[in-house]
Amino acid sequence: MEIIIGKTSGFCAGVKKAIRKAEETLEKGEAYCLGEIVHNKNVINDLENKGMITVNNLDEIPNEKTVMFRAHGEPEYKYKLAESKNLKLVDLTCEKVKLIHEKAKKESKEAFIIILGKKNHPETIGTKGFSGENSFVIETEDDILDAYIEFEKTGLSKVYVTTQTTISNAYCDFLIDEVEKNFIETEVVVDKNICPTTEIRQAETKKISQEVDKMIIIGGKNSSNTEELFKIAEENCKSAYKIETAKELNLVDFKISDKVGIMAGASTPEKIVEEVKNKLENAN
Ligand code: SF4
Repeated sequence: MEIIIGKTSGFCAGVKKAIRKAEETLEKGEAYCLGEIVHNKNVINDLENKGMITVNNLDEIPNEKTVMFRAHGEPEYKYKLAESKNLKLVDLTCEKVKLIHEKAKKESKEAFIIILGKKNHPETIGTKGFSGENSFVIETEDDILDAYIEFEKTGLSKVYVTTQTTISNAYCDFLIDEVEKNFIETEVVVDKNICPTTEIRQAETKKISQEVDKMIIIGGKNSSNTEELFKIAEENCKSAYKIETAKELNLVDFKISDKVGIMAGASTPEKIVEEVKNKLENAN
């Protein structure tokens, strides 16, 4: 069996840094993490074994304890809430996401903010939390009319469009076109913030998917960037699989003569990629 592993597979720089900082924090003692630190159960389990306590709400954390804000970022009000509880904040928000927050906050003084992204994704919720009341998340083209109605109510004449860092590049371009077509007689400033890591990984996934018989995408079940990679794999390879761990790989589906591609999402540890590769090799 020939196996091709994507060069851009696995942890991105933002996730690597967040995990390293979390480990350094945990060396000093237990620390809470608000929400999943990254969308991968293996990473979470490893850090929880080192003393991390994952909570869904700041109210669950006793005053003056240490709290970590995850790589995806949090809305601005949560920073204020953490301060009011005298929590020691370790901010693991990726620098690229922080920059998006800063720009959205600045622009919100004079513009209606549109965020292109998944409505329930923590990164989008965080960015919306820095964008003020005059903001709207567009996930699909069906949301554009509602966004326009909200925009009209504000009396503003400028729209600033920002994006989630991990959405599909092609779909993002389509939504930008639709927004520009629908927001007539409006100044529309587009700030496409898809992370370069995401773009390169998506392009490589497409390329490998077109060259192989079977394509395996590895990543967390809630991982948005993994989901996007899987969509690309499905579009470009007749047999695409999405798994979180090697255990989920069913070898019955694979033949010795197969050429198999592997790509992992930004929150997937390298050891899982290795486990998947070894499992395929041992099936030879
Ligand atoms: S994908 Fe990009 S923006 Fe998101 S955490 Fe990784 S480096 Fe940061």
